[in-house]
Amino acid sequence: MSNTSVSVAAEVPALLESLGVARDSFTGGTLTVRSPITGELIAAVKEDTAAVAKAAIDKAHEAFKAWRLVPAPKRGELMRLLGEELRTHKQALGRLVSLEVGKITSEGLGEVQEMIDICDFAVGLSRQLYGLTIATERSEHRMMETWHPLGVTGIISAFNFPVAVWSWNAALAFVCGNSCVWKPSEKTPLTALATHALFDKALARFKAEGGTAPEGLSALIIGGREIGELLVDHPKVPLVSATGSTAMGRAVGPKLAARFARAILELGGNNAAIIAPTADLDLTLRGVAFAAMGTAGQRCTTLRRLFVHDSIYDAFVPRLKKAYESVPVGNPLTQGTLVGPLIDKGAFDAMQRALTEAKAAGGTVQGGERVNEAAGADAYYVRPALVEMGSQTGPVLHETFAPILYVMRYSDFDAVLDLHNDVPQGLSSSIFTNDLREAEAFLSARGSDCGIANVNIGPSGAEIGGAFGGEKETGGGRESGSDSWKAYMRRATNTVNYGRTLPLAQGVKFDV
Ligand code: NAD
Repeated sequence: MSNTSVSVAAEVPALLESLGVARDSFTGGTLTVRSPITGELIAAVKEDTAAVAKAAIDKAHEAFKAWRLVPAPKRGELMRLLGEELRTHKQALGRLVSLEVGKITSEGLGEVQEMIDICDFAVGLSRQLYGLTIATERSEHRMMETWHPLGVTGIISAFNFPVAVWSWNAALAFVCGNSCVWKPSEKTPLTALATHALFDKALARFKAEGGTAPEGLSALIIGGREIGELLVDHPKVPLVSATGSTAMGRAVGPKLAARFARAILELGGNNAAIIAPTADLDLTLRGVAFAAMGTAGQRCTTLRRLFVHDSIYDAFVPRLKKAYESVPVGNPLTQGTLVGPLIDKGAFDAMQRALTEAKAAGGTVQGGERVNEAAGADAYYVRPALVEMGSQTGPVLHETFAPILYVMRYSDFDAVLDLHNDVPQGLSSSIFTNDLREAEAFLSARGSDCGIANVNIGPSGAEIGGAFGGEKETGGGRESGSDSWKAYMRRATNTVNYGRTLPLAQGVKFDV
C-alpha cells in the first residue's frame, strides 16, 4: 500500500494560480470540491446563476456570428496556440487532474497529452474541411456540397475525463467556426477553470499576433445539472455534446430532439473482452489488467465483462486473480501506484451494492473491500473486485462505475458473440486471439456491435485519431477524430447553373 499521508489541499491554490486562475473564483463559493486522494476540501468555487449562464450563451451566439467569418486556417492558428499553452503547462494541469480526480500521475499527464493531440489534429483539420463536387444530371451545371459553421456548441462533461472531453469537442468546434459554452461536471470545476484560463492565454496571444476573435467565443458556466439544462433548452444552441451517464442522456436527448437541436451523446459503457483459446496470455493479462483496473475502473471504456474460453480458463484466471491481489492501490501521486481512489462515497456505495447483487446472483467475489482508510474518512480506496459469474445476469448487465470485472466461461464462439452483444450498452470491445478467422469475425457485421472493437488490446485507451463513441444506450455520438467534425457543421448542397437554359431535374417541363 502506498503512503497517503500528504496534504493535497495546501498545493491546490498555488497550482491553480500558476495556471492563471484567479483566487476569488475558487474561494468563498458555494460549490465545494474535495480531493478524492485524501477527502480534504480543496476549494469552494463560485457558481454561475441562471442569468449569468444565459447571458454567456447569448454572447456566444453573437461571437459565433463573427467567428464564422474568420478563415478556417486562421481559426486553426488559435488551436495551435492552445496546444502550445497545454505543452507549456502539461505538468501543472496533469497534476491538477490527479489532485481533483485522483488519477495516477501518468494518467493525469496522459489526459493533457490527449488535449495536445486533438489541438494538433484540429490545426490540420482547419485546412481540410472538405466538401465534394458531385456529378449532376444537367449540362452546364455544377453541384457541390459545402460545410458551414453551425452555431454555439454546448459541451456538458463528466468527472472522469474532466478536461480531455472538452478539448475533443472544443478543438473541432472552434476550427469549424463555432463558439463554445462548457458546463463541466460539478465534481471537477477546478480543472475546468484551469483549462479555460489556458484557453484565455492562447486567445490573448492570438489577438496580440494580429488574430481576430470576438468576445465571448468560449464560455465556462459552473454549476449543477440545472445549469446544464439551460444549455440543453436554449434555442440558440443548435448542438449539445453531452458526456456522462445513460440516465443523463435519457433526460437530455429527448429535450434536444423536441427542439430539433443536434445531440452528440457519449454515455455509459459495459465493455467486454473475449479471450480465445489461441490468445497470447502474457499480453492478454497486461491488456485486461490495465483495461479493468486502470483509472480505478472509472473510464467509460473500462473493461467490465470478460469471457474466457473453457480451455484456458484455469490457466488464465488464477493469474488474473493474483494480479488483482497484488496491484498497488493507494495515493495516485506516489510512484508505483496503479490504482487510485474512487471519486467519492457515492461511487463506493454503488460498488458495494453491485457486489452484493452479484453474490445474490451466485457470483464469487474476490476483492472490492475498502482499503487505505488512513488516507482520510472521506477518501474511498478499494481493492479492485474480480467476480466469477455463472452467467451474464443481474449487475453484469449494468454499468457500475467502479473497478468490478465479471468473469465468465464460454465454449462456443458464436454463442459468446451473442452474449457479448446482449447488453444495453455498446461502447467498446476487444478480442484476444491469434486466430485470424475469429479476429475478423469479431470485427465484422456479425461481430461486436460496439462503436470501438479491438484485437489484442483492451477496450480502453483510445487515440484521438479515430472517431470515439458507441451504440445503443451509449448514445450513438462520435467525437474526436476521423470525420467526427461533420457533426459540428451544417452541410449545404449547392447547384450552380452556368448555362443559358434552365433544364429541370428529372426532365420535368415547366415552360411559362
Ligand atoms: P453524470 O451523468 O452524473 O454527469 C455528467 C454531466 O451531466 C455533469 O456535468 C452533470 O452536471 C450533467 N447533467 C446531469 N444531468 C443533466 C441534465 N438532466 N441536464 C443537463 N446536464 C446534466 O456522469 P458522471 O458521473 O460525471 O460520469 C460518469 C458517467 O459518464 C459514466 O456513465 C461514464 O460511462 C460516462 N462517460 C461516458 C463517456 C463516453 O465518451 N461515452 C466518457 C466519459 C464518461
